[in-house]
Amino acid sequence: MAVQGIAILGSTGSVGVSTLDVAARHPDRYKVIALTAHRDTERLAAQCLEHSAPYAVIADASRTKEFERALAARKCATRVLPGRDGLREVVAMSEVDTVMAAIVGAAGLEPTLAAVQLGKRVLLANKESMVIAGPLFERAVKRKQAKIIPVDSEHNALFQALPRGFENGLDTVGVHHLVLTASGGPFLNHDLDSLDTVSPEQACAHPNWDMGRKISVDSATLMNKGLEVIEARWLFNASPDQIRVVIHPQSIVHSMVAYRDGSVLAQMGVPDMRTPIAHALAWPDRIEAGVIRLDLTVMDHLEFRQPDLDRFPCLALAYQALDAGGNSAIVLNAANEVAVEAFLQGEIGFMRIPALVQETLEHTPGGEVGSLGDVLASDRAARQVAQERIGKQAVVNV
Ligand code: NDP
Repeated sequence: MAVQGIAILGSTGSVGVSTLDVAARHPDRYKVIALTAHRDTERLAAQCLEHSAPYAVIADASRTKEFERALAARKCATRVLPGRDGLREVVAMSEVDTVMAAIVGAAGLEPTLAAVQLGKRVLLANKESMVIAGPLFERAVKRKQAKIIPVDSEHNALFQALPRGFENGLDTVGVHHLVLTASGGPFLNHDLDSLDTVSPEQACAHPNWDMGRKISVDSATLMNKGLEVIEARWLFNASPDQIRVVIHPQSIVHSMVAYRDGSVLAQMGVPDMRTPIAHALAWPDRIEAGVIRLDLTVMDHLEFRQPDLDRFPCLALAYQALDAGGNSAIVLNAANEVAVEAFLQGEIGFMRIPALVQETLEHTPGGEVGSLGDVLASDRAARQVAQERIGKQAVVNV
């Protein structure tokens, strides 16, 4: 078995740390070639030392000196490649066979797409890149015969429950529809009238998963599930009416595939990202992930119900954006990133997030998406609209 060289984009984040944990359990299979972070120089330097990474990228180039000092203090010989060019450089390295795409948000798009265009094996956690540039990924996969293996637990579950050949169309392999499960997040049963006053800490306190702050807020609004619906559309060549969402508060069933003959195949496990990460790293093999075993006999019950769209308007907005096509998913994602950041900074209330996304969808010009330039232009335009509207709201509030 040849050792796989891996680059972990976003190694200092929640998915990145779990990936290092799994990879380090299998030194016979994986060799870390490159690690990357945005600004967390201390954590990145510590990872470089611990995993003997030959290369590292600090994407915020203004922190390069600080990062070099952090490496020097540890007597660590990792070579530093600064800025966004560094991200592109590491995915292109011949020693890198596999790229874990675990940067958060649209910032992950360029290196992730570059990895697919180079025909690398891409383990996709960074759902936002697929949401905003699905057609570009689809084209690149076809041209390069690249392999994208989903890491998002729901999509990884679907990938596991689908038969080979699904890429040619779900109908051709007897699939009726896909079911994405959603925990419902921390506010599933919260009083609707007081939702606007919840704090970032409450929103980030997910009942089942330990994740980065942005995805935690997305899980609380259910925008995370909305983004996953769009991600599923591109990953599995599914039509919007083939993608359904059910609330499953225990997060044991990670998603299901419903077949034409009435069979439903579910993938289950304890909620620990190391399972889908290990599956994606080793596919089609299975490796130890360090995860505790699922014991269904100690569970009270498993519950499934319809999502309440009054409580979670972001889910409806995502379906609308998917139906609308063009640049709508880009606008939805950009507005959401701006809104979540503003919420985390205490600038807007929780229920302003869906309102801001809706207003941005209404006020950003439409457009077709044929190139990376188109994606980036729509992303910029939508961010500007969303930011202006936060500014306007701030004036009104004063
Ligand atoms: P985190 O916020 O924990 O980590 C994000 C990582 O991306 C960090 O390494 C961060 O660096 C880096 N980063 C942030 N901004 C930039 C930027 N502008 N340029 C380059 N690098 C950047 O996120 P998560 O690990 O939670 O999530 C990562 C992705 O995986 C997201 O798309 C998320 O939706 C998806 N995902 C996450 C799951 C989870 O359990 N966490 C589950 C399923 C999907 P620094 O540390 O320096 O800020």
